[in-house]
Amino acid sequence: MINNQAVDCGCDEIPQVLLSTDEALEILTNSASSNSKTHLVALDDALDQILAADISSNINVPGFDNSAMDGYAINLKDEQVNALGGVKFEISDRIPAGSIGRLLEPGYAARIFTGAPVPDGANTIIMQEECELIENDLKIEIYRPISLNENIRPKGNDIKSGEVILKVGTKLRAQDIALAASVGAGEIKVFQKIKVGVFFTGDELIEPGNALKDGQIYNSNRYALVAMLKNLNCEIINLNNVEDTLDATVNALESLKEKCDLIMTTGGVSVGEEDHVKPAVQQLGELNLWRIKMKPGKPLAFGRVGDTAFIGLPGNPVSAMVTFLLFARPFIKKIQGASHYLNTTIKVEANFDWHRSKPRREFVRARLDHTTTPARANQYPKQGSEVLSSMVWADGLIEIPEKTTFKQGEILNFYPLSEMML
Ligand code: AMP
Ligand code: MG
Repeated sequence: MINNQAVDCGCDEIPQVLLSTDEALEILTNSASSNSKTHLVALDDALDQILAADISSNINVPGFDNSAMDGYAINLKDEQVNALGGVKFEISDRIPAGSIGRLLEPGYAARIFTGAPVPDGANTIIMQEECELIENDLKIEIYRPISLNENIRPKGNDIKSGEVILKVGTKLRAQDIALAASVGAGEIKVFQKIKVGVFFTGDELIEPGNALKDGQIYNSNRYALVAMLKNLNCEIINLNNVEDTLDATVNALESLKEKCDLIMTTGGVSVGEEDHVKPAVQQLGELNLWRIKMKPGKPLAFGRVGDTAFIGLPGNPVSAMVTFLLFARPFIKKIQGASHYLNTTIKVEANFDWHRSKPRREFVRARLDHTTTPARANQYPKQGSEVLSSMVWADGLIEIPEKTTFKQGEILNFYPLSEMML
């Protein structure tokens, strides 16, 4: 249940809605509808794509019993099973991987290599280090008791014919693609990449590479947003800086809406902002302005331009990144068709006290000390939402619940940046 609380700030025609982080995430992910456009890709092009249909195998892997070792396949006679003392076998065949051996008679051995099919008649395989070649290399002798079925990899041990090996919604990693290859899939069906349109406004912003004039700052959000969208394998249409007028902003939104699944901006969504993104989005669709009870972050705009989703992130660089990771990222992953779209957390121990109870949930930039179990989280000394160095120093975000105090040693949720920046 979401209890939206409209706040009248007296300064804006769009009502501000106060939400908890959980409510904001729930509204966003509930309104994300999954991509339905799919296409076939070659395995070499499948990395980081989202699988659009289950893959099942129509073969057994391995397809035949085979040797786990370089050694000797043996047809052990009943009386030789677990026999004490040295046992000798005449070598009657040689079977490299990729070839088929002859029927092995009782009491005989065949030289065999890793991956080669176990010949008919063989009932065990002994690694070469345990076999001594004797009598001009015509025989082997083994000095330890031998059991049946040693070192045989049975047919279907990895995958059985008919088994589903990868499920729809899987974001394909190297090991997933290798597994698909191992069952012979030549092409696989994936969801098409989503297109995200981005642009930036703000008279104070200039591009890196130019000299700063008084009062100017470099546009860093542009580079954070583009890189985080690339991490998510989105196709990006970047209009860069758009002149800060209503006409230019409306034109930018108009030009993106037909081409994109999502439009994103940063900045200009705080209370009292003299900014054209809000009226422009409203003119072409609808906009909700949220004040999320969190730090850093707080303002977030969510709406649509025509039928295209719109997310406006806050302007402060740390707030923009953190709200992207906590809210926009699960939203985007769900649109992409990923079945696991929510962020995962691990438990860590706070290496600091929290003296003052705060009304907003805090996402503190922290670095882990792995010399203890659970790992201990140290906080960056400067937690301002403009302190971008905190994001570079940190391993992740430690989540501090609202209205709480604690002593060092408290166990808390931690969002690893290593996971969210993939
Ligand atoms: P705003 O949300 O527009 O009020 O911006 C909040 C703060 O973030 C201000 O200090 C802005 O200068 C800063 N800011 C806004 N956009 C960017 C950007 N693209 N890159 C770096 N800082 C920004
Ligand atoms: Mg601004």
